[in-house]
Amino acid sequence: MRKQTSTKNNTQTLVLGAGYAGITTAALLAHEGRNVTVLEAHDTLGGCASFFRRGEYTFDVGATTMSGVLPTQPTGRVFGHLGIMPDLLKQDPGMLVRMPDRDIVRHASQASWIKEMQKHFPVGDQAAFWKEQYRLEHRVWKLVNNQPSLRPTSAIDWLKLMNPGVLAALPLVQGLVRPVATLLARYGVDKDPAFVDFINEQLLISTQNTSERAPFLTSALGLTYPSETYYPIGGMYRPALKLMRHATEHGAQMKFRRVVSSIEQMPSGRWDVSCTNGEQFETDTVVSSIPIWNMNDLTRGKQASYFDKMARTNAQSWCAFTMYFALDGIPKLSSQYVQLFLDKKIPGIRSASVFLSFSHPDDRQRAPLGHTAVTVSTHTLSEDWKGLTADEHDHKKRQIMDAVLECIGRRMHECDGMLPLHVQGGTPKTWVTYTRRYEGYVGGLPHDISRPMIFMPPNKTPFRGLYMIGDSVFPGQGTSAVMLGAWNTVNRIFAE
Ligand SMILES: Cc1cc2nc3c(=O)[nH]c(=O)nc-3n(C[C@H](O)[C@H](O)[C@H](O)COP(=O)(O)OP(=O)(O)OC[C@H]3O[C@@H](n4cnc5c(N)ncnc54)[C@H](O)[C@@H]3O)c2cc1C
Repeated sequence: MRKQTSTKNNTQTLVLGAGYAGITTAALLAHEGRNVTVLEAHDTLGGCASFFRRGEYTFDVGATTMSGVLPTQPTGRVFGHLGIMPDLLKQDPGMLVRMPDRDIVRHASQASWIKEMQKHFPVGDQAAFWKEQYRLEHRVWKLVNNQPSLRPTSAIDWLKLMNPGVLAALPLVQGLVRPVATLLARYGVDKDPAFVDFINEQLLISTQNTSERAPFLTSALGLTYPSETYYPIGGMYRPALKLMRHATEHGAQMKFRRVVSSIEQMPSGRWDVSCTNGEQFETDTVVSSIPIWNMNDLTRGKQASYFDKMARTNAQSWCAFTMYFALDGIPKLSSQYVQLFLDKKIPGIRSASVFLSFSHPDDRQRAPLGHTAVTVSTHTLSEDWKGLTADEHDHKKRQIMDAVLECIGRRMHECDGMLPLHVQGGTPKTWVTYTRRYEGYVGGLPHDISRPMIFMPPNKTPFRGLYMIGDSVFPGQGTSAVMLGAWNTVNRIFAE
């Protein structure tokens, strides 16, 4: 039962959650003079892109790479619009991919990258395959960037989409229902199983799906993103902190340690939002970044049925297994990001690789001189962690951590002689604790040919004044995508 309070806080717009989606929305709304309050359950910002400190080290909890930062892309457009300059270091190479038998250097330049692919996988027409990826990527950004009516929810939205830009892009629609495997076959590059393994692991970390099911249109963004990958100095939360400061300088109120427990529409049409500490808020507009899987528990009646349906139709999501440790040295690496293929299967890990993010040697906000902070992440499923006692859970976590550390110790010779310090792990249970995401579902909805992007849960709900943002709704996962969703949603709010 809810605690009674004597007064309700009134605010024009209530943003739920201070991850990248919520904080971008708050900054954009406040920038336009809108009265905004943000409610965040945790004691700090960032959500899946947050941080924690151990000793003298700052660890990214999940997300580590910034992308989409060019002025024509979603992250770049938000920062440019608000006049914010985050401290980012372009990574070139964007990534090192260490396969069991070869190292692949993910050069930023298209020409060098194609040469690298031809060297390692001399099958089919690698040049044509990659040129197609870049062409598709370019067209997708051009298409989605200026269409706030995406994803359409009404006849008016559809009408707004009947513009020359969208009509010219209609042939691209097939790329939402056809998998990457189609293009692999078209260019004959699928003849080498090692290349398909390489593509699958790249897709898994970007679209959350593999080549048989990932739509080739959105996958082009995933396969080309390492060409424009940026390391955020100080940690992934730092650009979000700049957004938060911009929001508060423009009057937004940030309220941390506020766990939203109910969202109800009153007969007047206004919204009543309650927190577990008894605080109540009344508002015209709620913009929620709380994932769709959690929303039915917070709503009632028609709204609960709506979110229940959304959660059932989009029931599948990945969870993350994460590890954090410091090194008493600086590995000599060409990129701060390494996708390390596992050469032995680790039970409980559903991916064939782990993603290692090393703090930059000059980044004193992350680690003291001569030391490095490392975040490791990979895919797991909630079912892998069900029905375990606390001891069994901890034992399983320990076993995975030992296996991952053993693999890193053996295969990352750049770390030879360095001692791992402050080693700790994160399971879906940890993610539930810190982000409250149902079942620890993170990374957003996998892009899948059975659910073209255009049918992902929309930002505008059927309930006047209630909007959804974040990686469980259109346009999906990643900080850049949730910033695009925030941008579109803010445009909609002002247009209505
Ligand atoms: C391991 C991992 C690695 C990743 N790597 C990258 C990467 O390198 N680059 C990239 O761009 N993306 C990456 N991603 C994806 C990216 O982090 C997310 O898609 C994005 O940060 C999601 O932002 P969000 O605001 O939608 O959700 P969240 O970050 O989950 O934010 C939602 C916020 O809502 C709060 N909240 C939840 N319930 C309540 C409640 N009841 N009341 C109040 N507040 C509540 C949470 O505390 C949280 O702060 C990664 C994700 C993971 C898990």
